Amino acid sequence: MKPTRHVLSLSGGKDSAALAIYMRDRIPNMEYIFSDTRKELPETYQYLESIEDYLGKRVHRLNADLGFDHWYDVYGGMIPSNHRRWCTKMLKLKPFEQHVGDDAVLNYVGLRADENRSGYISHKPNITPVYPFQEDGLRLPDIERILRDSGVGMPPYTKWGRSRSGCFFCFYQQKIEWVRLKETYPDLYEKAKGYEKPFEGSGNTFTWSERESLTELERPERMQAIKDEHERRRMAHERRGDHLTLAEVFARGDDEPEGDACLICTL
Ligand code: SF4
Repeated sequence: MKPTRHVLSLSGGKDSAALAIYMRDRIPNMEYIFSDTRKELPETYQYLESIEDYLGKRVHRLNADLGFDHWYDVYGGMIPSNHRRWCTKMLKLKPFEQHVGDDAVLNYVGLRADENRSGYISHKPNITPVYPFQEDGLRLPDIERILRDSGVGMPPYTKWGRSRSGCFFCFYQQKIEWVRLKETYPDLYEKAKGYEKPFEGSGNTFTWSERESLTELERPERMQAIKDEHERRRMAHERRGDHLTLAEVFARGDDEPEGDACLICTL
């Protein structure tokens, strides 16, 4: 009988990065994988290299041939959303399941002890999820400490106010994150807009961000209103004595409703 495989899926986010660091010496034969949508932020690839340096191991890239655009065409140019989440299925879950096949696998997931998220993870009977942070009671400050002490640090996108890993156009990002994407990577914002263009004027409502297109969202007065609203909420937290880090502000999910984001993309 084949031995059980140990697999940890990195998303480019802080929790899976911290978990990889946490598990390095506990499970020396861990396989590290990353399902590349080819629409990641440029800095995510650099971050993965820092993690590889720390681990002393290659992170195996899945989706070598087929990225987001292939499946976007297959799905008839339909922008994915919380209710049409073909992207997670085709770009994250299926490649992962194909990679492990029918082998017995322990799949290490970076859910923390201070979160109560449900996840979009594989339910194949040969894949058993394991939650080391929850088992060991590790919370957000512990994750930040692990990243700091290792020298890997927080994901670079947190420096410009983004909270999540995954595709630069992910529909789970909050309005303020769209504003920051526009300000930090105007070229990527334009590319995201390009996916909405075929539907403009068609009466169709395929937009990345809920209830408005990216063309509407980038109007200066609209961007300012989003910033003002975000600042108002941040100040309200401060007045209540919550001195939150950026990660905590977003972790509370009160900037915008987040929905049931996929763990495999964002942890
Ligand atoms: S990051 Fe967002 S857009 Fe990309 S695959 Fe995951 S859910 Fe889909």
